[in-house]
Amino acid sequence: MRKYLRFVNGLRRFSKARLKSEEAIVFARQHVRKRIANREQNFLNLVHKGVFQNQDSPYLKLLRPKKIGFDDLQAWVLKNGIETTLHLLETEGIYFTVDEFKGKTPVKRKGVAFSCCEGMFDNPFLSFVYEVRSGATRSVGTRIRIDFDYLHERSLYDALLLDTHGCLNAPIANWFPVFPEAPGINSSLRFAHIGNPVRCWFSQVAEDRLRVNWEKRWGIKLIFLVSDWCGTPLAEPEYVPLNDADKVARWAAGALKEHGTCVIYTFPASAVRVCIAAAEANLNIKGAKFLVTGEPLTPQKKNEIEAVGAVAIPVYGISEAGVIAAGCNQPHRTTDCCHLYKDTTAVITQRYNVPHWGISVDSYLFTSLLYESPKLLLNVGMGDYGDIRSESCSCGLGQIGLDTVLGNIRSYEKLTGEGVTFVDTDFVRIIEKTLPEEFGGKSTDYQLIEEEDAKGLPHLLLLVSPRVGSIDERSALDTFMGLLKRGGDSPESWGQSGTEMWMQSRILEIVREEPIPTASGKILPFHLLKPADHHVWRNQNAERVPYAIPITETEETAAE
Ligand SMILES: [Zn+2]
Repeated sequence: MRKYLRFVNGLRRFSKARLKSEEAIVFARQHVRKRIANREQNFLNLVHKGVFQNQDSPYLKLLRPKKIGFDDLQAWVLKNGIETTLHLLETEGIYFTVDEFKGKTPVKRKGVAFSCCEGMFDNPFLSFVYEVRSGATRSVGTRIRIDFDYLHERSLYDALLLDTHGCLNAPIANWFPVFPEAPGINSSLRFAHIGNPVRCWFSQVAEDRLRVNWEKRWGIKLIFLVSDWCGTPLAEPEYVPLNDADKVARWAAGALKEHGTCVIYTFPASAVRVCIAAAEANLNIKGAKFLVTGEPLTPQKKNEIEAVGAVAIPVYGISEAGVIAAGCNQPHRTTDCCHLYKDTTAVITQRYNVPHWGISVDSYLFTSLLYESPKLLLNVGMGDYGDIRSESCSCGLGQIGLDTVLGNIRSYEKLTGEGVTFVDTDFVRIIEKTLPEEFGGKSTDYQLIEEEDAKGLPHLLLLVSPRVGSIDERSALDTFMGLLKRGGDSPESWGQSGTEMWMQSRILEIVREEPIPTASGKILPFHLLKPADHHVWRNQNAERVPYAIPITETEETAAE
């Protein structure tokens, strides 16, 4: 009971402390400038209390054998800065890969071996919290604790971002699933906090299609109730399936007509659907600003959005640290170029050989610099890779001192379609074990590849070697989807929303083709499709069988 009281009090305090948009932007600029100036000291304070004075800290297990103490770290930071220090720590083995962080593989360094669980990385300094889950089907999911103070701080970056794009007071709509992910509810709370509550919240998934536990359902209801009491009502989610993207387009066209500007916060693929729907219905959405998150903003997606005169603004976040970077209004080399909120998070890269994919990438290692971060990260990989560099920029974000940019951001840990992420372990089991057991062939006769069509919409192709002989393709797809859905059986699991959206978007297709080998001739459960690969199998005109059956049938299949 105390837990709920604390929750309600935290929320009430948060709602009452809301700002007018003009106040928010002034405050945001001052606040972020100050935090950039104090960056090194903030980092040292956090490491001192959160790591060196915290006997349970997993980082101590790596630091102690290397005899690295706080004084060493402090001396390095003051002499060489944070990033050089983080590189130094990385070469000393002070880092966690994403698999180590999630407890999927044990941590092994010279003379040290142990296992982690994600709870070990929880920030011990949070007070008023509620929990959300990260976007994955992992049956346990990742519990992320969200602090209202943290939401307050983060909403200031939203003010900066909106202002940079000239839409601080523009009408905003969300198009995110109502459960169980964070972006829908978090962004609703954050935008309300800076004096510009979202006007509409469209949800790709119907609430009654999901099994959600009472605590979660009531937690969300409570957020709406308390926000109402405090005079900041939040828009109720309205079900708009992917194929009804024209509804969102109509909202945008109306808002543009009335206000000359509007913002839609959604997944890149969903934004593409809105633009396609607008073109088909002859709706003018020129000037609409799409804040897009949850999956890469690829060149195709960006082109498709710009083709109708709209603007695509990448927003990059990781569940464990929130939104940490966002795009500006100036041209950049990469389509998904984002200014790192470097006062909140430090990022370096580490060369990493990805299991199951057969590729080597520059994996991002994240470090939290502030007390309000949900997790306390010190050189932790999160399954993403990309570029990082310093770049001066004349935009609002650059002017304030955010001079580090990320780009070409991709995930090696999960497949992402329509903002839905499925973690590789689910796939590996299904592809290497379950499918061969049920339909014949060997583990290497099946492979999942991800591609993007000419419009930038995602497709997942399940390649099944012709060697397997005749199989019932639809049944194989049912099995595949059923297993994924079941893998996400926990009530808050993203698997439910995910498979629901995949079904709507017909994202998954089966193709009777040989799996594609890596350069070294290996067949792995996944293959990243490069343009050069298309000739390998495309010109054989293989039939594609899309997954598109009512979800009730999937449930029956899964239950058998
Ligand atoms: Zn910029």
